[in-house]
Amino acid sequence: HAKSKGKNNIQVYETTLHHAVVYARQVLRELEIALSEDQLEFHFQPIVALNTREIVGFEALIRWKHPTRGLIYPDEFIEIAEQNDLVRAIDSQLLKRVAKTLSNWQALTNTPLYISVNISAKRFIDSQLVNEIEQVFKQHRLVPGSLLIEVTEHALIKNIGKARLLFHQLRSIGVKISLDDFGTGYSSLSYLNQLPFDIIKIDRSFVTSINKRKLNHPIINTIVVLAKTLDIELVAEGIESKLQLEILQQMDCQYGQGYYLAKPMSEHEAEKLVTNRSLKSE
Ligand code: C2E
Ligand code: MG
Ligand code: MG
Ligand code: MG
Repeated sequence: HAKSKGKNNIQVYETTLHHAVVYARQVLRELEIALSEDQLEFHFQPIVALNTREIVGFEALIRWKHPTRGLIYPDEFIEIAEQNDLVRAIDSQLLKRVAKTLSNWQALTNTPLYISVNISAKRFIDSQLVNEIEQVFKQHRLVPGSLLIEVTEHALIKNIGKARLLFHQLRSIGVKISLDDFGTGYSSLSYLNQLPFDIIKIDRSFVTSINKRKLNHPIINTIVVLAKTLDIELVAEGIESKLQLEILQQMDCQYGQGYYLAKPMSEHEAEKLVTNRSLKSE
């Protein structure tokens, strides 16, 4: 009995694995087309100063406008792309595009404004990418501090010497680096200790845990104090309610991002907010 059940499980596993492999191959094939036919684009989500509701920047989030499947979100394809060399071509195309967008937006406003771009740590420590970042930064004469790179993964800590060098190179041309999804990795504190991050983004899971029933939030509170002590800017991710916003404000968290403030939007929609930087408060 147990034996046949085990056999079954293996079969299910193999079928699932087979599907995953077939899906990945299909995605890669179609991504190549997506790249040459301009189906990849960014949506932009405002990052807001919590006490004034003023937009200080936007996070660029990749979207795939698939001709038959509609809008596809990064969770469905970015990991697959990252396991293939195609990711280099994707990164370069998007980086060029975002630099152009940023320089267009900078021409529309005198107030400082940044765009932050997500880069997987595996790609980040590939020095070719950093050279490309330097190149577009200079080519578009971006204002220092206006381009931000968000990184998450553990690959940084495994290559700490290299990561330090890249941080130094990027900072010297005015690119800032933020630690994304802070608190979810098992060694978040260790990253902070070893690399000079400009910004910390508190992971959405901590913000989600703020609800009516629990009015004490020692972990977030500690992160706020930590960021202040280290003189690092702090952004809370995934603010979905008024209560969460108010509690984060009370705790003196500087910046935030989330559906309650504004959802990711098309470049065209975002551009309208560049000149009118304040989000309406209720
Ligand atoms: P992330 O960098 O942590 O981005 C935040 C994610 O949370 C985005 O999902 C955003 O749409 C979503 N979000 C923002 N506010 C809220 C909220 O209030 N509630 C909820 N439930 N979600 C919220 P998205 O766009 O699906 O991106 C998912 C992840 O994919 C990103 O997480 C990032 O790690 C990755 N990603 C996105 N764009 C790129 C890219 O261009 N390159 C790379 N390598 N990764 C990317
Ligand atoms: Mg991010
Ligand atoms: Mg994040
Ligand atoms: Mg994330």
